[in-house]
Amino acid sequence: MRLIVIASLKTVYPWDTMFGNLSNHGNGADSSAQNRTRMVDEQLRSRGIRDERVLAAMAKVPREEFIPNEDAANAYGDFPLAIGAGQTISQPYIVAAMVEELELTPEDRVLEVGTGTGYQAAILGELAADVWTIERHAELADKAREILRRLGYKNVHVLYGDGSLGVVEHAPFNKILVAAAAPRVPETLVSQLADGGRLVVPVGSRSEQQVEVIHKLGDQIFITKHDLCRFVPLVGEQGWEL
Ligand code: SAM
Repeated sequence: MRLIVIASLKTVYPWDTMFGNLSNHGNGADSSAQNRTRMVDEQLRSRGIRDERVLAAMAKVPREEFIPNEDAANAYGDFPLAIGAGQTISQPYIVAAMVEELELTPEDRVLEVGTGTGYQAAILGELAADVWTIERHAELADKAREILRRLGYKNVHVLYGDGSLGVVEHAPFNKILVAAAAPRVPETLVSQLADGGRLVVPVGSRSEQQVEVIHKLGDQIFITKHDLCRFVPLVGEQGWEL
C-alpha cells in the first residue's frame, strides 16, 4: 500500500475549542427546535460547515435527549460536556466538522468508534444507510442503545468492545469515524475501509492531536491533516494503553 500525505491543511476554523458561549434559551419542544436552529446558524454555518445534509441532521436530532439530565440545559452550548465514565461529548461544531469530512451518501455503511452518548451516531444514522457504533464502556453503550431505540434509530447498531480493532464481521465500511484520539492511524481500521472509503481520526499525543482524513483509493492512501484538537484517548489494542 502506498501512502501519500497530500498536505497539512490549515483550516479556516478551529477543530477544538474548549470554551464558548452558552446559547441555550427557553424550555420545551419549541425551544429545543429553536435552540437547534440557533446552534446551526451561530456555531456551524458561521464557522464554515457547508454540507446542507449535515446541517439538516444537526437541526433535527434532539441533542438534549443524549445529555445527562444535570447538563440538559447546556445541550446546545458551544463546548464539550461530561457524559459519565470520565468521558466527554464534543461540542456540536466538532461533531458537524468531523461528519462533514466523511462526505456521507445515503448508501454508506459507516463505523463509528467511540459511541459515548450515541448523539453523533444518530447524526450518522440520519445521513447513511447503516451505522455500527462501538464503545469500550458497557454502561455508555447500554445507555446509548436505549436512547437510540427510544428515538427510533433502527439503522444504528450499538456494540460493546475495543473499537480500535474495528468490527471485522461487518466490514468493509465506506466511512469510519473515530471519536477518540489515537497515537497513530489504526492499521486495522484502514484495512476495514472499502475502496474509495474515508476514515476520519484524531492522531497525535495524549494532550494534542490533528484530525486526519484518510482516503483509500485502490492501493493508495491519501492523508489530509487538519488543525490541532484535543480528544479523550482511544484506549485499546491499536490505541493507547489504559
Ligand atoms: N461520539 C460520542 C457522542 O456523540 O457522544 C462522543 C465520543 S467521546 C469524545 C469518545 C468515546 O470513545 C468515549 O466514550 C470513550 O469511552 C470511547 N472509546 C475510547 N477508546 C475506545 C475504544 N478502543 N473502543 C471503543 N470506544 C472507545
